[in-house]
Amino acid sequence: MTDRSLTLMAVHAHPDDEATSTGGILARYAAEGVTTVLVTCTDGGCGDGPGGIKPGDPGHDPKAVVEMRRAELAASCEALKVTHLETLDYGDSGMMGWATNDAPGAFWNTPVAEAAGRLAELIRRYRPDVVVSYDENGFYGHPDHIQAHRITMAAVEQTGIPAKVYWTTVPRSAFQQFGTVMREIGVEFPEPEATDEMPALGLPDDEITTWVDTSGYGGQKFASLAAHASQAENIFFLRLGQERFTELMGMETFVRVRDTTGAATPEDDLFAGLR
Ligand SMILES: [Zn+2]
Repeated sequence: MTDRSLTLMAVHAHPDDEATSTGGILARYAAEGVTTVLVTCTDGGCGDGPGGIKPGDPGHDPKAVVEMRRAELAASCEALKVTHLETLDYGDSGMMGWATNDAPGAFWNTPVAEAAGRLAELIRRYRPDVVVSYDENGFYGHPDHIQAHRITMAAVEQTGIPAKVYWTTVPRSAFQQFGTVMREIGVEFPEPEATDEMPALGLPDDEITTWVDTSGYGGQKFASLAAHASQAENIFFLRLGQERFTELMGMETFVRVRDTTGAATPEDDLFAGLR
């Protein structure tokens, strides 16, 4: 191990995205003494409101949603022992095609160069060795996730600082396993099918470069998700209970897209080649 402490930066779209795909690595690396920086790009104002009120429904007050989600994000960071939380506070753009896509201040409506400039500033300040974000489809096509991908890649390009960059992904085999467990607990989980608008989710197992075992941090990851229990899709995961959730979500997987270390793949550590 080198003297200089290592730094991990995760760039996410909404308050709660840090939990499912990177809750394990944030908890694990913090426990190993790595400085962890979470950058959350939007305020989550298009999420479910207090009492489960859906965006667009009467009584959905984006300001109240933002307040609630800010508190939830703080609680999640506490569960994961995140060292630094940085929020860019762009407006949540909502799902693709919603009127909120074009709202003033919406993340999707913000020039990439502008938001990437702000992220580049954070990269210069924290000098992360490893940066994690999404693939070019934002994993599942959400405009804010796509935009998070774009600004991350632009900011990495501009600064040249991170030694390694990763995109979160899910092995195709995990979707089958997930479907089986969900059916066991009585929840229908149709396996996602690829369409023209929506390429297939995840990657074939042999295209995944990096498998990080975070099963020892299942409790923290579950607590992070539970902090965001106001959002319907999280309630879905919480129904699994901590043990089954950890069994299913204990391995976090990534595709490595930038590397200056020469570490061989497949690897089991985002910091392989750096310590
Ligand atoms: Zn999101």
